[in-house]
Amino acid sequence: MRQVAVDAWVEHAQALNPGSQYRSGRAARSVLDDARETIAGLLGAEPIEVIFTASGTEADNLAVTGLYEASPLTRIITTPIEHPAVLETVRATGAQVDHLPVDATGHVCDLSLLDTPAAVATCMWANNETGAIQPVAEFAARATAAGTPTHVDAVQVVGRLPVDFHALGATTLAASAHKFGGPRGAGLLLARRSPAPVPVLHGGGQERGIRPGTLDVASAAAIAAALTEAVAEIDSEAARLAALRDRLREGILTRIDDVVVHTAEPALPGHLHLSFPGAEGDSLIMLLDQQGVEASTGSACSSGVNRASDVLLAAGVSDHDARGAVRFTLGRETTDDTVDAVLGVLPDVVARARAAGMAG
Ligand code: PLP
Repeated sequence: MRQVAVDAWVEHAQALNPGSQYRSGRAARSVLDDARETIAGLLGAEPIEVIFTASGTEADNLAVTGLYEASPLTRIITTPIEHPAVLETVRATGAQVDHLPVDATGHVCDLSLLDTPAAVATCMWANNETGAIQPVAEFAARATAAGTPTHVDAVQVVGRLPVDFHALGATTLAASAHKFGGPRGAGLLLARRSPAPVPVLHGGGQERGIRPGTLDVASAAAIAAALTEAVAEIDSEAARLAALRDRLREGILTRIDDVVVHTAEPALPGHLHLSFPGAEGDSLIMLLDQQGVEASTGSACSSGVNRASDVLLAAGVSDHDARGAVRFTLGRETTDDTVDAVLGVLPDVVARARAAGMAG
C-alpha cells in the first residue's frame, strides 16, 4: 500500500456511515464524494459512474452477471484467457458461450464473433499472467456496433497504463485497488448510466442499487490517494519497468538454455512470463522463495494448484512447457539490484529444478 493511501485511510478510519443524515454522516459523505470525483477524473468517467466494491472480483461479477440478466439474449462472448473472476462468472450464468480466439503470443486475434449480438461481451484489458495487452478499444467498438454491451476487466491496467473510460467505449470496467497501491479488499466498477447492470446484490440502494451496502469511506479515500499517485507516475514507471524487465529477460536468455518467453508485445511493462521446460513451476517457485525471490506460477490466486496454466494452453503452449512456467512481476520497489539478485540465483535454481525433474 502506498504511504499516501495509508495516510488517507488512517485519517478517515473513524468516518461514520456516509448515508446518514446527521452532521458526521454528511462529513463522511463529503469525503466519499471527493474520492469519487477524483477517481472519475483520473479514469475519464463521470462521478456517478464510479461504484465502490470490495474487490476486482466483485466488480467483474456485478458487471457480467448484471449485464447478462438485463438482456433478453442468452449468449455471452468472452476470451479463453480471462481471470477466474470473469471466467467462472460467465460459466455460472449458464449462457451459451463463444470464445474469441487467441494467437500464439497470447493476444485476442479475431473479433468477428462480435458481429452477432450477445447479452454481453467481456474481454480483459491486459492478461494477469503474460501481461499481454488486448485490443479492447476495437473489441468495444465492434461489439457496440452490433448492439452488445461490453465489460472490460482492467484490473491489471488501472494505475499502470492511461485509462479513459468514455474514450474506450465500454459499458462497464473493473479495477482493483491493491494493484495500484491502494488497500486490499477494495475495488471499483465503472458503469455507464445505460445500459446498466441489473442488481445482483439486493439491499439499501447504495451505489445506484448496483452495489448496496454501507460504504467504506476510509477505503474510498485511500483508493483516490493511491490512484492519484499511480497515474502521475505512469509514464516514468512504464519506461523504468520496461527497461528492467528487458534486462531481466536478456540476462535470463544469456545465462540459461532452453527458455520459452511467453510475454510478447504489446504487454504490460512489468510482466515477464517464461517457461524453463523440464522443470516443475512449483519447484522453481519454492527454490526461488528460499533465495528471497518471490515469483508466481500462473495467477497468484490459484498458486498451490500444480497444473498447467489455462492461459498458456489457450495460446498453444504444450502442457510440458506450460508446467515449467514462472511469472516475474516488477513493480514500484523493483530496482537494478533486484534484477541482479534474480539473475544471480536463477541459473542454479533452474538447474536444481530440472535435476529434480517433473512430477508424474
Ligand atoms: N481480474 C484480473 C485480471 C486480476 O489479475 C485479478 C486479480 O489479480 C482480478 C480480476 C481479481 O481482483 P481481486 O483480487 O481484487 O478480486
